[in-house]
Amino acid sequence: MSKQKLAAIRGMNDLLPADAPLWETFEARVVDLLKSYGYQQIRTPILEHTAVFTRGIGEVTDIVEKEMYSFTDTLNGEQLTLRPENTASVVRAVIEHNLLYDGPRRLWYMGPMFRHERPQRGRYRQFHQVGAEALGFPGPDVDAELILMLKRLWDVLGVGPVRLELNSLGQLDERLQHRKDLVAYFERHHGQLDADARRRLHTNPLRILDTKNPAMQPLVEGAPRLIEYLGDASRAHFERLQQLLRANGVEYAINPRLVRGLDYYNLTVFEWITDRLGAQGTICGGGRYDPLIEMLGGKPAPACGFAIGVERVIDLMREAAGVPQRPLCDVYVLHQGGATLAAAMRAAESMRDTGLDVLLHAGESSLKSQMKKADASGAEFAVIVGEAELAAGTAAVKALRARDGAWPFAEQKAVALDRLGDALVEALESLSE
Ligand code: ATP
Ligand code: MG
Repeated sequence: MSKQKLAAIRGMNDLLPADAPLWETFEARVVDLLKSYGYQQIRTPILEHTAVFTRGIGEVTDIVEKEMYSFTDTLNGEQLTLRPENTASVVRAVIEHNLLYDGPRRLWYMGPMFRHERPQRGRYRQFHQVGAEALGFPGPDVDAELILMLKRLWDVLGVGPVRLELNSLGQLDERLQHRKDLVAYFERHHGQLDADARRRLHTNPLRILDTKNPAMQPLVEGAPRLIEYLGDASRAHFERLQQLLRANGVEYAINPRLVRGLDYYNLTVFEWITDRLGAQGTICGGGRYDPLIEMLGGKPAPACGFAIGVERVIDLMREAAGVPQRPLCDVYVLHQGGATLAAAMRAAESMRDTGLDVLLHAGESSLKSQMKKADASGAEFAVIVGEAELAAGTAAVKALRARDGAWPFAEQKAVALDRLGDALVEALESLSE
């Protein structure tokens, strides 16, 4: 057998213990926040039939054209894909389980997504998204609510300033008229189009507006603007959304070039952007996709949602406050093997019953070397169950961290084994007072 070292797949990262507290903080705060707006969690499989995404995202997007991890299941010949995003799967599940039967739903998800992209800072092949989908609400009230929820999230996470860009895509007929004029405009200036734009001209001309090529900027600036093609109802939706945002103190900028290239996106689109992450500055994208549920075979129902790029937000959190330092445990338990191990194990269990985090020394070594481990663990207390202590039905408690004032265990002290949990909880409480 080859002994060559194995490595993770390029663009797919391990989350190591040193970074875990940052992710745990992020996840706990996001879950609290979503709950506080009445959103319910949904978890769908990571693997779906490829058709979920080809129909649910569209054949002419970057994702479906070149970023999906798709393969044939060799056992039964099915075409499968690792999910590149979660909206299509959520809609698939909502239809399959008839979740809109009793009325609209507010749902959220969190988990890994897979896209075959060129790995760089903020862009990975396995990455994570948290998303929310408000299904069955025509808006614009829920559009505003989703945006307000995100503004609160950035505050709660302490990620610093993030700006909101907003646009309206109107409805399909409005976009078709705009598209006709747009294609005519780009055809008149065909010589100035780059290869990407020429390729998109007849498949997905809106995406040309989204180009990152600086040489194309003047041309794109002068192109017909979708916003001027919106009818009364679309305009009213957009106006009302803006009113609600202003009334709630949300600042935004309208970016007429913010687009999505697909026919089933409509009305509201938005992105949250930071300048502190280099080229990968968009931390969240969202908007309305009213036609999608019907396109995937469900009863027509409007929908609006967003997806957050978790790695990018975690990067901002790390920049703002660093990784939180966390001790391994509150209490480290030392013993001398034999009968003291059995007693130490019982003591550890009873302390866990009172809510303490307890690390029991594993294996046998001198008390001196165990004490070094106890110190390195970051624990507040060492609890020593030695032979002498056990004979007296006690353990010796020693405070490991220097503290000001009257600190109960500054001197090593004997505590009855059946009183340990309560005594240490009390001591910790006196600390936090
Ligand atoms: P981009 O233009 O950066 O490729 P996108 O339009 O493909 O973004 P969405 O599909 O809208 O992105 O996904 C929502 C968010 O997920 C993005 O704003 C970004 O924060 C994050 N994201 C997308 N792709 C990746 C990736 N490959 N690695 C890390 N985060 C990603
Ligand atoms: Mg992309």
